[in-house]
Amino acid sequence: MTSAATLSSPGAAGGAQRLRTVGLPLLALALALVALLPLPDFWIIQLNYIGIYVLPVLGLVLLTGVCGLTSFGQAAFVGVGAYTSAYLTVNLGLSPWVTLFVGLGLTAISAALIGAITLRMSGHYLPLATMAWALALYYLMGNLDALGKYDGILGVPGLTLFGQDIGQLRLFYALVWVIALLACIAVVRLLDSRTGRAIRALAGGSQMAEAMGVNTLRHKVGVFVLAALLASISGWLFAHFQRTVNPSPFGLKMGIEYLFMAVLGGAAHVWGAIAGAGIVKMLEDQLQVLLPKLIGTSGNYELIVFGILIVLVLKYLPDGLWEAIDRRLPRAARRRDWADAPALPTKAKPAAHEVVLDVRAIRKQFGGLVAVNDISFQVRSGQITGLIGPNGAGKSTTFNLVTGVLTLTSGEVLFRGERISGLGARKIAQRGVSRTFQHVKMVPDMTVLENVALGTHLRSHSGAAKAMLRLDRAEERSLFAEAERQLRRVGMGHLLHHKAGDLAMGQQRLLEIARALCADPALLLLDEPAAGLRHKEKQELADVLRGLRAEGMAILLVEHDMGLVMDICDHIVVMEFGTHLMEGTPDEVQRSEKVRAAYLGTEH
Ligand code: ADP
Ligand code: MG
Repeated sequence: MTSAATLSSPGAAGGAQRLRTVGLPLLALALALVALLPLPDFWIIQLNYIGIYVLPVLGLVLLTGVCGLTSFGQAAFVGVGAYTSAYLTVNLGLSPWVTLFVGLGLTAISAALIGAITLRMSGHYLPLATMAWALALYYLMGNLDALGKYDGILGVPGLTLFGQDIGQLRLFYALVWVIALLACIAVVRLLDSRTGRAIRALAGGSQMAEAMGVNTLRHKVGVFVLAALLASISGWLFAHFQRTVNPSPFGLKMGIEYLFMAVLGGAAHVWGAIAGAGIVKMLEDQLQVLLPKLIGTSGNYELIVFGILIVLVLKYLPDGLWEAIDRRLPRAARRRDWADAPALPTKAKPAAHEVVLDVRAIRKQFGGLVAVNDISFQVRSGQITGLIGPNGAGKSTTFNLVTGVLTLTSGEVLFRGERISGLGARKIAQRGVSRTFQHVKMVPDMTVLENVALGTHLRSHSGAAKAMLRLDRAEERSLFAEAERQLRRVGMGHLLHHKAGDLAMGQQRLLEIARALCADPALLLLDEPAAGLRHKEKQELADVLRGLRAEGMAILLVEHDMGLVMDICDHIVVMEFGTHLMEGTPDEVQRSEKVRAAYLGTEH
């Protein structure tokens, strides 16, 4: 079987896996060797700055690259960490090892507050809001007497460890890079986890993630706080490295520069943070010397070069330098270590032919248009109910009303006797309603297996901290075992480790079904699952749906392929222009003059 071959081929894939996992140790080794070289102090100091910059940029990799949330305010959180530690060490004589945590606490609180307000905004409003508070914090730092106004705080002590002065050279280099590497490891681990997959789903909009039970706002705020904490650590290092703080390194210009580092390096890659911070810092130093010489007068000419560079990068390497390298690295098959993982918990199933979904006179108006006009129908367990009607009849809108994506204008929806209308997509999913989308929604750069594992979100618990400490591996094995089981069920067992974005349309639809099944639903809503499928795939889909019906699943199916609908549905509801035209068995629907007229578009 092809699937077994893919899973167990140790050759090329195994090599690639090794190649990827040696990345970090290799970097650590290279960094250690650099420290042993007789480099001039200038270069050690450069490398220290780069290490300090890697942290906030790593935060932006998560926030902007992975989640698609652009922030110009990252430098402000560097400032919070720097100022807190500078103020407390200078004025109260506290140890920097204590003030680090005070700074982190302050950062966490302020980021959570700012995040909870601004992350509700979408589109251009979010970056604009981040600029606004970046400016506000900058002027606050510059105008508070206690913080020394624009002169800042002088005489900040250096760091000591076990009585040893860390200085600004090799010991500091060791400290800053150990912290930077640990942060990279933590982020790599986070991204490869339950929470990480939820985070990676955020960039594609919140609809799919919420339907899988992910609290998208909470995850966005979480990422925002984590990014801010990384910035805060950087600020702490910065204050005790420079031994002085003033507002200028924490202003909007630096916020833009951090963003530039992330975009240049490759905003979605942890390694991009290191590449971006390194290249920008080196380039900046060289240009600051070179350009004024060339032009003949002094000035911040490097900014002009950066401006041009960023336009070129966005045009030719929109995913950054690292993406160009990463694309050439062979993809690794994940080691299949979940063969005997314990099964995930399941919910109690409805009785045979129980009314699972009861839709009562639901109505949706978009302005003057009544897209769904007092529609009522029921869906029973162990049955496939078809919802059909010409384009624009209101089928997808009905789906969105049932699943809580849209709010009802009037009417109500009951799921297993409980009113679910008004609950919101995530709460409805929690109760056992799972769906697919007419326009496939997945995370294109995750593997098929990872995408499907997203469906298990509500059946698992591990959070970010557990992921970073790798305490989530037992649960991960169970999640992947379930994801693989559902993928095999829909006939996709041979594609587990493929990039989801490379799949054919039909396969993408099957992926969505497998993902929905991972949620252990009692009601499955499928919006045009056969669109884009070939004849044989449709037959296989029909078999899968029949199998689910036999297990007692309630299925609501929107589908244009009449052959499939008539073949597998037990009951069919026909809509036209938002209204309920008729309902009955496939035979009754096929015989109906009204239905024929609706589909032919003639008067009746
Ligand atoms: P179907 O899935 O049956 O093809 P839809 O439910 O997608 O139909 O659409 C029903 C009607 O509602 C269409 O006229 C469509 O243009 C309209 N509609 C759907 N969503 C929206 C929206 N968000 N805003 C305004 N009109 C909408
Ligand atoms: Mg539709």
